Amino acid sequence: MSKISINIATGSLQQAEMIVGIDLGTTNSLVAIIHPENKKAVALQEHDSSSLVPSVIYFDELNNIIVGDVAKQHLEASPQNTIFSAKRLMGKSYNDVKQNEDFFSYKIIDDNTESLVKVQVGNQFYSPIELSSFILKELKNRAEHILKTPITKAVITVPAYFNDAQRQATRDAGKLAGLDVLRIINEPTAASLAYGIGTSASQSEQTIAVYDLGGGTFDVSILKINNGIFEVLSTNGNTYLGGDDFDKSIIEYWLEQNNIAKDELKQNKQLAQGLRLRAEEAKKQLSNADEYTTTYHNYALSISKEKFENLIQPFINTTLQHCKNAVKDANISVDEIDTVVMVGGSTRVPLVNKSVSNFFGKPVNNSVNPDEVVALGAAIQADILAGNNKDFLLLDITPLSLGIETMGGLMDVLIPRNSKVPSKAARQYTTQKDGQGSMRIAVFQGERDLVKDNRKLAEFNLTNIPGMPAGLPKVEVSFMVNADGILKVKAQELRSGVEQTIEVKPQYGLTDEEVEKMLMDSITHAKDDIATRALVEAQTEGEQLLETTEKFITKNTALLTKEELTTTAQAMQALQLALTMNDKNLIQTKIEELNNISRPYAERIMDNAINVAMKGKTI
Ligand code: ADP
Ligand code: MG
Repeated sequence: MSKISINIATGSLQQAEMIVGIDLGTTNSLVAIIHPENKKAVALQEHDSSSLVPSVIYFDELNNIIVGDVAKQHLEASPQNTIFSAKRLMGKSYNDVKQNEDFFSYKIIDDNTESLVKVQVGNQFYSPIELSSFILKELKNRAEHILKTPITKAVITVPAYFNDAQRQATRDAGKLAGLDVLRIINEPTAASLAYGIGTSASQSEQTIAVYDLGGGTFDVSILKINNGIFEVLSTNGNTYLGGDDFDKSIIEYWLEQNNIAKDELKQNKQLAQGLRLRAEEAKKQLSNADEYTTTYHNYALSISKEKFENLIQPFINTTLQHCKNAVKDANISVDEIDTVVMVGGSTRVPLVNKSVSNFFGKPVNNSVNPDEVVALGAAIQADILAGNNKDFLLLDITPLSLGIETMGGLMDVLIPRNSKVPSKAARQYTTQKDGQGSMRIAVFQGERDLVKDNRKLAEFNLTNIPGMPAGLPKVEVSFMVNADGILKVKAQELRSGVEQTIEVKPQYGLTDEEVEKMLMDSITHAKDDIATRALVEAQTEGEQLLETTEKFITKNTALLTKEELTTTAQAMQALQLALTMNDKNLIQTKIEELNNISRPYAERIMDNAINVAMKGKTI
C-alpha cells in the first residue's frame, strides 16, 4: 500500500511510492496518475498547457536533446535533426521499415539491413530504444516537477500488435530513462480500464470492442469482461496505419493541385515538413469545419471536408476490415458486441465515428478524451499493482504465435496467437542421429509455416544429452509466457534430466548487460562497428550451416540422389569461398542458395524419420 502525506512546507501532495501510467505514443506521449485525494485517474499537465507531449526529439547544434512541443517547432527548419514517429522503428530492422522509408525525413542507417535499425543525427547514431528513452526521460522529469516527488516506477502501454521484440525494446527504453517498468500493457486493455468497464464485480458479462486509431498505429481488440475479469478474446491491427496517413493523403492532394512533383519533397525537406504540419492542421480543423484554406510560400492550400472524407475512406475501410478479422478471431458475431470504445486522436474525425458506428450497428462510446484514455488506464493498472485497487483482474493474450524450428525450416507452434497469458505449453521431440549429444532449439514468432518467413527470437543448444540411439531421447521443450507477454523457454531431456532454461531476449532487444553498457558508454557507435558485426554474424551463420549440412550429408548419403549430392557440394564450395571474402551480402546469398538446395530433401528425409520414430518428432 502506498502512503500519502501532505508536505506542509510546499502544500503539495506526496506519495511514498508513486507508480505512474505512461502512454508512450507514436505521435504523443503522456503521464497519468491516480489522484491521491479523489482516487480518479488524471493526466498530468503543467498549469494550463496540454497533457500531451509530442513524441518528437530535436537535437540542437550543441547536441542538447529537446523533447515535446519545442522540438516539434523544429520539424520544418531542421528536419534532419528532428526525430518523430520513432515508435514505428521500435524492434525493427532496416528491412522491416525500408518500404516506408520516405515517411521519415531524418536519416535511417541502411547499410546493415538485418540488425536493429539506427537513426543518424549529425555524426551520432541512436537506436529507437535510446530515442524512446529520451521521451520517457522527459515525461519522468515533467511528472517529478509537477508532483514534486521522485518517480522511479511506471506502467507503460504498447499497441496490442507489438511483438516480443517491441515490448522488450519498450521495457529497455524505460530502464534507460531510469524507470522500473513494472508492467507493459496493451493500449486497448488500458483504454477499457479507463472506461471503468467491469469495475463492479456484480456486473453481468459484457463484450467490448476497442477501436484505437492514433497517429501511427491502428488496433482493434475484442474484450470480454465478466465479474471484474478482463479477457482479451482477440486483437487485430496494423502498425503502419493512422492519422499520419490522413496527413499524407492531404499532402498528395495538395501536390497535385499545385503541380509540385513528388520528387521535389525529397530534395526540399523544409517544404515536405511545412506541408505535413499544414496537412495535420487542415485535418484537425475539418473535424469541426467544412473547409480549410491557407497559403504557404506561394502555394494555395485548400481542401473541403467532402474531399478529405473521400481521401480517407479507404483507410477507414481498411480499419473496418481489421475489425471484421478481430470479430472472426474472437468467434463471435458483430451483434454480440455490447459496447464499442473509441480511442486515439484520429477518432475525433466525424467520418471515423460514423463508419465505425455503422459497422458495429450501434452508437460508439467516446466520452473519455481519446488522447488521454490510454494513459488514464495505465494509471489504473499502476494503482492495481500498487495494491490499491483489488476490483480488477487482468488477462491478456499473445498477439502472435510462438514456436520452434523443426527440420526443413518448418515452424512448430507451441503457443498459438491469441492465447491467454500467462500461458504455458510443452511438447516432446527426439534426436535424429545415434549418439546425438546436443539439440539446437530455435525460437520463432509469427504465423507463417516456414520459419524463414517468421521472426527469430532466440536460439540455444541443449547439450550433454547422454548417448542414445536416435529417436530414444525425449526432449521436452516448454514455453512460458509471463503476464508481460515475455517468453521463457526450457528444454529438458526427460530420461536423463539434462536441462537448459533461457529467458528469451528478442533478437532485436537488448540484454540487461547491454542496456547497462549503453548507459555507461557514450551513445555514439561508429558506422563501422555496425557493419563489422553484421559481417561476423553472417560468417558465423555460414560456418554453422556448412557444418550442419556436412553432417547431414554424411549421415544421409544413401537417401540422396547423385544430382542432389553434386549441387549441394557445389553450393557448399561457393559458400566456403564466400566466407573468405569480407562481403556480408555475398555470404547471405550463398547461405540462401545452399538452403534452397537442401530444404527439399531435408523435408523429405524428415518425413521418413518421423515415420520411423515411434513417438515424438525429430528436430
Ligand atoms: P498516438 O497514439 O499514435 O500517439 P494519438 O492518439 O495522440 O496518437 O493521436 C494522434 C493523431 O490524432 C494525430 O494524427 C493527430 O493529427 C490526430 N488528431 C488529433 N486531434 C485531431 C482532430 N481534432 N481531428 C483529427 N485528427 C486529430
Ligand atoms: Mg495511442
